[in-house]
Amino acid sequence: MHFKIQTINRHRLTTDGAGITTLIGLAGCPLSCRYCINRYVLKHSPSREYTQEQLLNSIMQDYCYFVASEGGITFGGGEPLLQSQAIQEFFDRLPQAVSVNLETSLYAQEELLLPLLEPVREFIIDIKSLNPEVYQAYTGLALEPVWRNLNRIAQNGVQRKCRLRIPRIPGLTTEADIQASVSRLRELGFSNLQVFDYIIPTE
Ligand code: SF4
Repeated sequence: MHFKIQTINRHRLTTDGAGITTLIGLAGCPLSCRYCINRYVLKHSPSREYTQEQLLNSIMQDYCYFVASEGGITFGGGEPLLQSQAIQEFFDRLPQAVSVNLETSLYAQEELLLPLLEPVREFIIDIKSLNPEVYQAYTGLALEPVWRNLNRIAQNGVQRKCRLRIPRIPGLTTEADIQASVSRLRELGFSNLQVFDYIIPTE
C-alpha cells in the first residue's frame, strides 16, 4: 500500500520521540483546527505518493544515526491514522533497530488505531480539549472518536507509551477546562501529560 506524504524532515532531536528521528508528515486530516500549524504546508505544498520501498530507501539513509541514538521515525501529519494500513505494512519492512512513533490527534476509527498499539514505541497525542463544546468549536468535529480511542488505549494497558499534549487555546480554553482534561486523563491512567500554550500561527 502506498503512502501519501506531505513532508519528510530528517535529523530531528528529541521533539518527535527519543533519539534522532525522521518526521514523516502524512497528507490528509479530518479536523479543521482553528489554529492549524500545518495549514500553510497543506495549502501550498502538494503531497507525493511513495511506495513502501521508496519510503524505506529514503529513511534508511539515516540508519546509522537511528541505531547510534536509539531513534527512529515518527509518522505525523495531518493525521497519520488515516494511513494506518500502510503503516502496518511498513513494520514488516523496517529493521527492528528503527523505532516508530506516531503523532496523532486520535481522531480516527478505532480499527485504525488498535493494530498499532503494540508495535508503536511512543504515541504523541495532541488532545486539543476534552470539553466537548470546546473540541467542536476548535476542530469542527465531535469529541467522541477521541474519547473512545483514549479508552481503548487504557483498556489495552498501554498508557505508558503515550505522551498527551494539552494546549491552552487562546479564546477557547479556561484553566478549569485544562484541569478537567488533566483529571479525566489521570483517571484513565495516563501520567505523561504536558500542558502548553498554543502560539497562534500567522500566514
Ligand atoms: S489535527 Fe493537526 S493537521 Fe489536523 S487540522 Fe488540527 S492542527 Fe491541522
